[in-house]
Amino acid sequence: MKPPKKPPRMLHVTSARHLTPNMIRVTLHSDEIKEMDGGCAGANCKLFLPQPDQSQDDFAAQLIDGPRPDVRTYTVRHIRPERGEMDIDFVDHGDTGPASAWARGATVGSFCGFAGPGLVKLTEFYADHYLVVADMSALPVAAATLEALPKDAVGDAFFEIIHPDDAQFIAAPIGIRQHWLVHPNAQVSSLQLVEQVKAWDWPKGVVQTCIAGESGVIKALRNYISNDRQAPKNDCYISGYWKIGLIEDEHQQMKRNEG
Ligand SMILES: Cc1cc2nc3c(=O)[nH]c(=O)nc-3n(C[C@H](O)[C@H](O)[C@H](O)COP(=O)(O)OP(=O)(O)OC[C@H]3O[C@@H](n4cnc5c(N)ncnc54)[C@H](O)[C@@H]3O)c2cc1C
Repeated sequence: MKPPKKPPRMLHVTSARHLTPNMIRVTLHSDEIKEMDGGCAGANCKLFLPQPDQSQDDFAAQLIDGPRPDVRTYTVRHIRPERGEMDIDFVDHGDTGPASAWARGATVGSFCGFAGPGLVKLTEFYADHYLVVADMSALPVAAATLEALPKDAVGDAFFEIIHPDDAQFIAAPIGIRQHWLVHPNAQVSSLQLVEQVKAWDWPKGVVQTCIAGESGVIKALRNYISNDRQAPKNDCYISGYWKIGLIEDEHQQMKRNEG
């Protein structure tokens, strides 16, 4: 018999601020983070979001007894187990989604539920060249991956941000060229990341990728990389993180339907 699922852990906000104009960094604390793996930056997790004005006692009971609150997928950007802290970076895309709205309103003492983390996406680095592509939702996974690369890694990283000031410092190896492209309205699809990758002088040797972002863009990139470039699946992390016009549950359902 399967053991009963552990209820999500309750985390408390110790700081919330705009890191850049369209990215909110929320620092969360719990003694249970002290037990977590210090190497899980870049892994995804599930955040369980309270209703605005819901009391912590009411939310704690809901996490155990249901009904299931709004749940959204995010990336552990940094973890400091010794302090029981982790940072999660939220794209600020307004109040339409419960996660973005929660992060916009988060202040010291705000709370949410947490499950995870999952597995870190890229753990073995053996490429001759690296290709990293991310919109703002995937900046956390891209940055964590770039920061974990061997110091002598070479390649290119293409980022699409909403405003020039959304560019952030990433401690990537010196051999990784960083290209910051601006697309001011994420609700309007943009093909510039696809164009950049198609124009990339695909090098000889092994290419490992870390590619994530809006699902329409990712579909086009996946087609190009697997069909035109015939890159082996095992060398490529490539994943749709959200989709224009769909909330996360609808997007996940769409991905399941597509297999
Ligand atoms: C493995 C994984 C890791 C992820 N990590 C992160 C992360 O670290 N940081 C992060 O910000 N996101 C991350 N995402 C994306 C995030 O889960 C989605 O953006 C999610 O839809 C946000 O939930 P919400 O409640 O704010 O909006 P929803 O209720 O899901 O959607 C409401 C509306 O907002 C739109 N929308 C959703 N996301 C965006 C966006 N980024 N920009 C503009 N419009 C949007 C939707 O299309 C919809 O119309 C990750 C996704 C996956 C699968």
